[in-house]
Amino acid sequence: KVRVRFAPSPTGPLHIGGVRTALFNYLFAKKNGGDFVLRIEDTDQNRYVEGAEQYIIDALSWCGIPFDEGPGKEGDFGPYRQSERKNLYRQYADQLIENGWAYYAFDTAGELDEQRKNCEAEGKTFIYNWHNRMNLSNSLSLSEEEVNAKIEAGENYVVRFKSPEGEFIHLQDSIRGDIKIDSNLLDDKVLYKSDGMPTYHLANIVDDHLMEITHVIRGEEWLPSLALHVLLYRAFGWNAPEFAHLPLILKPVGKGKLSKRDGDKLGFPVFPMQWTDPKTSDVSRGYKEDGYFPDALMNFLAFLGWNPGTEQELFGIDELTNAFDLKRVNKSGARFDPEKIKWYNQQYLQLKNNETLAKLFINHIEADAAILSAVEKPDTLLTLNYVTDVVRLIKERASFVADFWDLGSYFFKSPREYDAKAAKKQWKDNTSAIMNELIDVLEGINEFSSSNTETIVKEWIAEKELGFGQVMPPFRLSLVGEMKGPHVFDIAALIGKDETISRIQNAVS
Ligand code: GLU
Repeated sequence: KVRVRFAPSPTGPLHIGGVRTALFNYLFAKKNGGDFVLRIEDTDQNRYVEGAEQYIIDALSWCGIPFDEGPGKEGDFGPYRQSERKNLYRQYADQLIENGWAYYAFDTAGELDEQRKNCEAEGKTFIYNWHNRMNLSNSLSLSEEEVNAKIEAGENYVVRFKSPEGEFIHLQDSIRGDIKIDSNLLDDKVLYKSDGMPTYHLANIVDDHLMEITHVIRGEEWLPSLALHVLLYRAFGWNAPEFAHLPLILKPVGKGKLSKRDGDKLGFPVFPMQWTDPKTSDVSRGYKEDGYFPDALMNFLAFLGWNPGTEQELFGIDELTNAFDLKRVNKSGARFDPEKIKWYNQQYLQLKNNETLAKLFINHIEADAAILSAVEKPDTLLTLNYVTDVVRLIKERASFVADFWDLGSYFFKSPREYDAKAAKKQWKDNTSAIMNELIDVLEGINEFSSSNTETIVKEWIAEKELGFGQVMPPFRLSLVGEMKGPHVFDIAALIGKDETISRIQNAVS
């Protein structure tokens, strides 16, 4: 059975790249009838950030990509937080030491710094591996007695992986194909520390094995670790899962990886939801609070590195699941385009039904005191029926629920002022007289529907031999306050006969 995992470290809020990784895992699992596991990789206690794990869980839920197993959703492979699996890793480190794949190292931080500086002075980078390990302080260079004495004396140590010398390691990646790595260039990475905590590499491989993960789908930044991971599987005698490294997400402009600063600079969020930093109380914007729909965001993220091979761009989550294929994931970086996600949001808004949008719009109005106080008759105007009708008339031009107010505030309050330029152009010497006549015509209409009113008003225009231009623009200006908005008879029908007449009266006086 296909089992994949999303394995974030709770070192801060999940950024948009992490959500893309989670989404691709989710899609792959669902496509293959498999399980999507959330594993919290919290072994590095120095980098632990309060609230980050809850944020990750909430964000996946808001995004609509729920996990099948994870913290708070126990399955057969828990616990799903590495800090709660702490006691499990030691035996695996020991196993590697016993069979010669790992060794104790006692070098202090100061000694390693010294080595690093010496290398830098020669213009080289320091690597701890086969070429110098015999000159350093470890169980390969020291005698057994010396090693035991150090351990008994309580000296700090780490367990390092003994990467092989003089071998080409063949790696396979579902997206990148075959990769060959010269083992001589590999670092003897730390697997375990004497504080009783495994490092990412050990815990990650042990857990992927114990949790029976079949496919590892993660960001390209982990590609440099792949050789070590494959060697670890070999060292344990376990079958490795299949690997797929997703392409980088690139800045909207210029070179390099998308960063939080790009978002601040260009004014778009890089987090799914708002995040308040527990230390600084700094607030980072989120797509949720900025008014994006989660399905629009998922559709957008799916196209960061993947495409269906057709012209179709709109895919709900189920359609994405059906269409998704790792073979169609690109190697090259995917440029992040914040304009495109706005477009997606606009498309999704058009697809939502008017009543759903009306509920969201009412919430939006009620949550904003300034807007709410502008609504003239909240009891009659903030009803679901009325707002649904408003949404029907104005949604076409909206990308966000918040746009509704800008597009249609006149449905909730009569104009206090009139667009000066339009008034100058449209309101001529005889306009007030014509509008007074229009009021009389409207007074006489019993069925004040859009089409009936339109028919009667047009008959009157024809009969009086008035031009449309003498009637319709000032009529619109009276109802809206400016020359925008949907069909003017639709507006009149919705705000009703009395309100329509009263607005024209206001404009005339
Ligand atoms: N804990 C790693 C991270 O934060 C997981 C990487 C992986 O998927 O192997 O991204």
